[in-house]
Amino acid sequence: MAKGDRQNITKRLLPGKLFWVAIAVASCAVFALLHTLFGTVSADALTAKSGIDKSVDTTTEIASRIPMNFDVPSSFQAKTIKDAPVPAGEKVIALTFDDGPWPETTEKILATLKQEKIKATFYMIGQPLKSFPEIGKKVLADGHVIANHTLHHWYHKMSPLVAQREIEDTAKIIKEVLNVETAYFRPPGGVLTNGLVDYAFKHGQSVNMWSVDSNDSHPKRPSPEAMLKTILAQATPGGIVLMHDGGGSHDNTAKAVPQIIAKLREQGYRFVTVPELLEISSAGSEKVASAVAE
Ligand SMILES: [Zn+2]
Repeated sequence: MAKGDRQNITKRLLPGKLFWVAIAVASCAVFALLHTLFGTVSADALTAKSGIDKSVDTTTEIASRIPMNFDVPSSFQAKTIKDAPVPAGEKVIALTFDDGPWPETTEKILATLKQEKIKATFYMIGQPLKSFPEIGKKVLADGHVIANHTLHHWYHKMSPLVAQREIEDTAKIIKEVLNVETAYFRPPGGVLTNGLVDYAFKHGQSVNMWSVDSNDSHPKRPSPEAMLKTILAQATPGGIVLMHDGGGSHDNTAKAVPQIIAKLREQGYRFVTVPELLEISSAGSEKVASAVAE
């Protein structure tokens, strides 16, 4: 093809090219406008694509915009508890889940808790919360308590700076993903002497151990029946039950939770979050104190 012919063709095509460029620019503008107006619709579409329960969608978006604080009653600040004394007749117990959020297990447990109208306390690790933010948002949207379980789940002795970062970096992720500030902390492995608790105490946090160990993090995962037996043997009013929704699949835990709830209910227990447990305990001790003063 001669050079002149090529120039002529280019000239003829140019208006056509401009037309398509204009269409592309207009499409981008319309998409941007729709995205601004209906951003949550796109999020829904993504959620559906990811296979996560669609109830995460707008409820979660709204929940995550409302700032929420999980504060500690003053009598429990900078203290370690494994349970809390409650007034006679208050047969309450707190279910707690560690190391999540985690695909499948967390959502199975959430479904059971929702069905049974029970609120629990979730001690989240920074890393999985960063990896699975939508599951974390669902935990919050369902009304459960969010607590800090460090960034890396380390047991070893830490310098004050490393301990600070383990807790503060996780607090930052919890704030960014969930818009939550929490003063409830559980040291990984229940290790109280590696520097983490020193940081938590310095900042008035509540350090939460447990009085009932389901033993579900044992490498040979106990059967749901074995978990139930262990928990029933250790349950007491004011107790805190340790279970895991993350740090690996915990299918047996998810299967055990409905049975655990049913059996404890049969024994007259009612389920509370750790902050609720501390409130009940504080109110109870005030009553006792004023009765003594009278
Ligand atoms: Zn843990």
